[in-house]
Amino acid sequence: MSEDEKMYISYQNVHQLCQEAADKIKQFKPDLIIAIGGGGFIPARMLRSFLKEPGQPNVRIMAIILSLYEPTDDCDEESIGQKVVRTQWIDYHQSKVDLVGKNVLIIDEVDDTRTTLHYAISELKKDVAQQAAVKNADPNSTKFGIFVLHDKQKPKRADLPDEIMSTGNYFAARTVPDCWIAYPWEATDIVTHTKNAVAQGNDVFLP
Ligand code: 5GP
Repeated sequence: MSEDEKMYISYQNVHQLCQEAADKIKQFKPDLIIAIGGGGFIPARMLRSFLKEPGQPNVRIMAIILSLYEPTDDCDEESIGQKVVRTQWIDYHQSKVDLVGKNVLIIDEVDDTRTTLHYAISELKKDVAQQAAVKNADPNSTKFGIFVLHDKQKPKRADLPDEIMSTGNYFAARTVPDCWIAYPWEATDIVTHTKNAVAQGNDVFLP
């Protein structure tokens, strides 16, 4: 697939990618899901059904919304973090969410330049440090994992911590070439979108 071609993904494909990834993610034992919106919302909800254990409550999903500024010409590497804008973050007080000592799974639909995931994890770690300080607890008792549907094979503009990348707690359902991925929730014509996905083999697959 060339870089200017789009890769069409159907809802059924997303559903199955979540199902497939769930077996591995269960080993991480997430206590909490943090979905990055908008693209992480639908995968997070689908994955949650596959993580459900009989007799146990559903894993809670918290939503954060991050937007990327378009890079400008005078943008240097050090400004990577500043290009991400928080549109919505966790209200810890109202939700009574405590990250300390938890296994926290961050979900986005795609790891492209990695800027968004880098920002999310850096900021969440600051929140953990604050919460741990208040309780006089160990901030390292919080473990982070990441789930994306697609990880694009390309040079990334930001890193993710070793504690995620070297522990097997980075879960990408598929590693894909660097092309534009068209997700079903963005489609304005879902029939044509799904036909395109089927034609590309990105619809239902037999596990
Ligand atoms: P990042 O470059 O920070 O890894 O990705 C930022 C955001 O850009 C992603 O969360 C996603 O919303 C959007 N994005 C990046 N690549 C693609 C793509 O191929 N398709 C779609 N639909 N969104 C993308």
